[in-house]
Amino acid sequence: MAQAIFTEEHEELRRSIRAFVEKELRPHADEWEEAGEFPNWVFERMGELGYLGLHHPVDYGGSGGDYLTMLVREEEMAACGSGGVSMAVSVQAEYVTPPIAKFGTHEQKERWLRPALEGRRIGALGITEPDAGSDVAGIRTRAARDGDEYVVNGAKTFITNGCRADFLLLVAKTDPEARHAGISLFLVDTDTPGFEVARRLDKVGMWSSDTAELRFTDMRVPAQNLLGEEGKGFHQIMWELQGERLAAAAGACAGAQNLIETTMEYTKGREAFGQRIADFQATKHKFAEMQTMVDAARALVYETAVKVNEGDYPVREITEAKLLATRMHFQVADVCLQLHGGYGYMMEFPVQRAWRDSRLARIGAGADEVMLDYIAKHMGL
Ligand SMILES: Cc1cc2nc3c(=O)[nH]c(=O)nc-3n(C[C@H](O)[C@H](O)[C@H](O)COP(=O)(O)OP(=O)(O)OC[C@H]3O[C@@H](n4cnc5c(N)ncnc54)[C@H](O)[C@@H]3O)c2cc1C
Repeated sequence: MAQAIFTEEHEELRRSIRAFVEKELRPHADEWEEAGEFPNWVFERMGELGYLGLHHPVDYGGSGGDYLTMLVREEEMAACGSGGVSMAVSVQAEYVTPPIAKFGTHEQKERWLRPALEGRRIGALGITEPDAGSDVAGIRTRAARDGDEYVVNGAKTFITNGCRADFLLLVAKTDPEARHAGISLFLVDTDTPGFEVARRLDKVGMWSSDTAELRFTDMRVPAQNLLGEEGKGFHQIMWELQGERLAAAAGACAGAQNLIETTMEYTKGREAFGQRIADFQATKHKFAEMQTMVDAARALVYETAVKVNEGDYPVREITEAKLLATRMHFQVADVCLQLHGGYGYMMEFPVQRAWRDSRLARIGAGADEVMLDYIAKHMGL
């Protein structure tokens, strides 16, 4: 039923992304996970194939497709074998570039959006700080106006693509006395004096994606690098986060579906007590429950994406979709690991990677508790 949202064009796109993922990404997943990084050619190749700018404006190097093309890419990327690769690509295509397309000037789009969509320059998004994550208005990185420049001092942490980024979409305080109204966005080239990758961080999962702590010391950013209006950054970044959350939800549903399928195969090939693990009723019920959860989450994701595609801004539904889908993904990964028994806990079986990787989405892009708070608020609580 839900699949009816996709046209033949979407399905054609799906086939081409699937072939790319199978041939060019999946064979390298283990090697990149071990190396703790994947090569930059992935961005270049995906830019060349048009996969980074699917629903971005044609005038700046995008493909001008509808919003549902994003779902197709997120779903197919979930099969690349490494959550770190799909997350890093999402950061480029769905986190960093949409605000430039929406709020940027023509010059900013030519300078940052076009090369990012073409995969020639890599972007990172800097919201979170060592002392402020969920409470975005509580950030302390300061951008103080000085003539035609802003002088930036502060730090960011947990920044995906942060070690390799060519530019950063930076969220900073232009008015330290104000909370929400004191926040502004900046586009910062990472070769700007005063910009420093202070630390590369080790993580539980998403190994192939680099995560950085960044430091800014008297970093001078030209005033023309301000994205949108000064003091409007909180609303702009909240808008950005909606896209991030829906992309995460779409990837979570596809990731869970893939786990169900590979685990079904595993349980059909393993025996205990004289029968296949797949044939125990307890196992069948687990699969039935998991499939039900995936179908329910995916239906919400699709319904919400259709609304976005039609020009709505359904924040409550996006929040619910992110909460439901990412929780469901981790639950499915946990059950699938369990169904693998001891092999599930071994590094040579991919289910452990999915289990580690899927844990992140319950924290990143707004933790479960922040989603719940938001939904409760919309319910009038
Ligand atoms: C691998 C990884 C990649 C990331 N990539 C990026 C990135 O590219 N760019 C970026 O800017 N950030 C990134 N993040 C940061 C991520 O968005 C934050 O970790 C997340 O928003 C939570 O913030 P925090 O870690 O500071 O947790 P905190 O805000 O300190 O929260 C700690 C706990 O308290 C709970 N809590 C907080 N407030 C409330 C409340 N009001 N009610 C109830 N419970 C509450 C939270 O839900 C959480 O469980 C990344 C994080 C990770 C781990």
